[in-house]
Amino acid sequence: MLRRRARHGHDPGARLLSRALPPYAKGLHDLGSGCFAYLQPDGGWGWSNAGLVVDGDQSLLVDTLFDLRLTREMLAAMRRATPAAARIGTLVNTHANGDHCYGNELVGDARIVASRASAAEMDELPPDRMASVVRAGAALGPGGAFLARCFSAFDFESIRHVPPTETFSGEHVLRVGSKDVRLLELGPAHTRGDVIVHVPGDRVVFTGDLLFIDGTPVLWAGPIGNWIRACEWIASLDVDCVVPGHGPVCERSRALEVRDYLLFVRDESRKRHDAGLSAADAARDIDLGAYRGWRDAERIAVNVETLYREWSGGRRPAPNVLELFALMGELAERR
Ligand SMILES: [Zn+2]
Repeated sequence: MLRRRARHGHDPGARLLSRALPPYAKGLHDLGSGCFAYLQPDGGWGWSNAGLVVDGDQSLLVDTLFDLRLTREMLAAMRRATPAAARIGTLVNTHANGDHCYGNELVGDARIVASRASAAEMDELPPDRMASVVRAGAALGPGGAFLARCFSAFDFESIRHVPPTETFSGEHVLRVGSKDVRLLELGPAHTRGDVIVHVPGDRVVFTGDLLFIDGTPVLWAGPIGNWIRACEWIASLDVDCVVPGHGPVCERSRALEVRDYLLFVRDESRKRHDAGLSAADAARDIDLGAYRGWRDAERIAVNVETLYREWSGGRRPAPNVLELFALMGELAERR
């Protein structure tokens, strides 16, 4: 459905109509003017979105998917939709999580761009390590069991780790045909090097996992202040179409819902931190209220742990990820 925008006199630049947002259905959606979103409902663990920007015969892919089968399927849909996708010229990985980069080998001849921080983080959990953890599953204890359950739909075997070929810090502008595509590093937040991909001329932004819509954000890196500011930044962009890392395409104002969740978790965690509760007990104790209905609410365990680490001023060691998955499994059971 088209929504009518305010009309400003006879300004020829006035936009009378904003674009209709696509339904949250699996597959490729044409956002108009050469931008596409590839969506994977329900957006839960590993079910990420990706994007495509084209102009003339040039193309830029925003993220690959968690495994080769899914990425292959996506690339085929893109090729059916536009000849410019026959050869992907540039791939941008918004961050280091495998559900945004494990498919890289299928566009291995593209230039692959990521932030310097993301490139370093990708080397730490390459697909073969993920494959061995998922293969071991319950043999690694309850954490391994829950992790394997979260990622059971994906096939991590025999994926080649294909890292970025170009990195940057801060801001970097790419060209796709005659379009400017602006990469902006707003992390560390969700991960260490989160980047958004903004196409100002098309009024579209691909946010990677700085936005989870209708799903629970997961704070792996922090500091949380960066993520809060990132949400406010996204909400202030002159765009009418926001493609989040997980969940439906939305309007920019929904970035503030993510910010409000982060503020809520920060404040609830702080109370329990100051009262002397352990991070695990704080995660068990927090009443998520309305946020309980967001998908993967158990991620509160990671979020509290990362906040405690931030507040320790570097004294709290990096968490054992399997222990975090064990606690998330316990919380998921309970809810
Ligand atoms: Zn993701």
